[in-house]
Amino acid sequence: MKKLLVVGAHSGDFVWRAAGTIAKTIEEGGTTLVIAMTYGERGESGELWKEDPKRSEESVKIIRRVQAQKAADIIGTPIQFLDWGDYPMLVTDERINQITSIIGDFEPDVILTHSEKDPFNPDHPLAFQTVQRARLLSSGAGVPSAFKNIAPPAWYSFEPHQPELSGFIPDTFIDISSVMDKKMAAMDCLGAQNYLKDYYAELAGRRANHARRISGKKEIKFAEALQSMMPRVVKSIF
Ligand SMILES: [Zn+2]
Repeated sequence: MKKLLVVGAHSGDFVWRAAGTIAKTIEEGGTTLVIAMTYGERGESGELWKEDPKRSEESVKIIRRVQAQKAADIIGTPIQFLDWGDYPMLVTDERINQITSIIGDFEPDVILTHSEKDPFNPDHPLAFQTVQRARLLSSGAGVPSAFKNIAPPAWYSFEPHQPELSGFIPDTFIDISSVMDKKMAAMDCLGAQNYLKDYYAELAGRRANHARRISGKKEIKFAEALQSMMPRVVKSIF
């Protein structure tokens, strides 16, 4: 049984960028776990603050948690909220150890997280760096006194909002046609952000166009793009 770990800086990130890949993994019998480092209460909750500028950060966190949990339930994945605080998200040694422990306990075959660069968001590249470091610590410690040592998971970036400016070059396309209805329903949970829902639905159609042209598989209607962060080691070329 394959295991997929998805790490997002903010509680909504996994929905826009990876909900299809998560739902597809579950459909195929895999196990998934989503980590939300923060609720995105400051940086990605503009609509909530617009509704009521005087509301408290705590109240925004509660709403964001409910929304993300609902989206995760629709997709069928467990989700864990770390509540590190966003904009700016801060990463301490303790927090790197926390992610390292999560990786060690879950033992994922594949990890999905943000792209290395994102000039529009200070928390996303930091999430990338944290996952990069924790992945190395969990798979390369070598001595029992350090971290639990697991086989190195494959590792991909999911698609940022502005791929070209973030240096994102898609090299892997996941056919999410059979689970696109779940992704749409999950996106609906994230509040009054219809413009983002439209954007990501359109993006899935465009990435499917690319996937069809690359593979000749005409049945692909929706796709998510990923970029592999590590070379692949395969048993044979076929
Ligand atoms: Zn985010």
